[in-house]
Amino acid sequence: MSAKIISGTEVASQIREELKQEVTALKEKQGVVPGLVTILVGHNPASVSYVTAKQKTAHELGFHSIQDDQPEDISEENLLKLIDKYNNDPKIHGILVQLPLPKHIDEKKVLNAIDPDKDVDGFHPVNVGRLMIGGKEAKFLPCTPAGIQELIVRSGFETAGAEVVVVGRSNIVGKPIANIMLQKGKGANSTVTIVHTGTKDLEAHCKRADILIVAAGVPGLVKPEWIKPGACVIDVGVNRVGEKKSEKTGKMVPILKGDVDFDAAKEIAGAITPVPGGVGPMTITMLMKNTVKSAKLAAGLA
Ligand code: NAD
Repeated sequence: MSAKIISGTEVASQIREELKQEVTALKEKQGVVPGLVTILVGHNPASVSYVTAKQKTAHELGFHSIQDDQPEDISEENLLKLIDKYNNDPKIHGILVQLPLPKHIDEKKVLNAIDPDKDVDGFHPVNVGRLMIGGKEAKFLPCTPAGIQELIVRSGFETAGAEVVVVGRSNIVGKPIANIMLQKGKGANSTVTIVHTGTKDLEAHCKRADILIVAAGVPGLVKPEWIKPGACVIDVGVNRVGEKKSEKTGKMVPILKGDVDFDAAKEIAGAITPVPGGVGPMTITMLMKNTVKSAKLAAGLA
């Protein structure tokens, strides 16, 4: 039987609709307008397109949104001053510095300068610690892992007591999603295993998974026979495996593949995310959700 396809595009648009209504109610009833600033240094084309997409979504949701473009040669000192300005701006609830930064700037220093209560990306060490502690301490979950949890929950999979196996131990996906799924609470409470390049028998671990989350960045790493029949498979991997001509624009566009062989896996899994259109569309949406939460926290409403 073919698996249910978990559409990140659909879930993301559902969450955005919910957020739009929440933002309208916040404005009308409390006079609160969520504020997001995206800081872009230089003109890296990929960064420009990411920032533009974030600003477009913030605008559509009715946020107070600022795109702050800075020249490639801005000094680290001036960038830190800029962050300090937004840290102290009560209209701004979320600060996002688009990475990568030019080589003369210490990325870590810049990210750590963001007020943890405005760190809607959830990567500040304070927020990483808050997530580890869990419960109400966890303020901003990193966006891609938070999106993964939403996809699992909204697809109707029971997480409590489930065997969750996470392939990959990066700080942006593997570790935080493992942390999220082991928390005692709704949409989690799972038994979690993380596997990685040092793991002896990847296949044996994957075969046990009721929920298999793959974030390795290796196309086709997880073979269909490694999937437990009926499992929920979340494929985070986005790998460029070639180029093709777009039917819409006639331009060459990358061919993207996940870490799981989708066509074969969907005949075994109970549910599976496609690539593209699975986890990808969730990330910006969760950034918006974090910004709304930050605005509510600042107003004492959450
Ligand atoms: P990363 O390279 O930082 O981490 C990959 C992890 O996978 C490492 O911990 C490594 O130990 C593990 N790994 C790699 N090869 C392995 C193997 N052969 N066996 C076992 N473990 C192996 O990558 P990342 O930043 O976590 O991203 C992973 C993938 O997810 C990439 O394809 C990336 O493009 C994608 N991604 C997608 C989104 C999104 O859709 N929004 C966001 C972040 C990352």
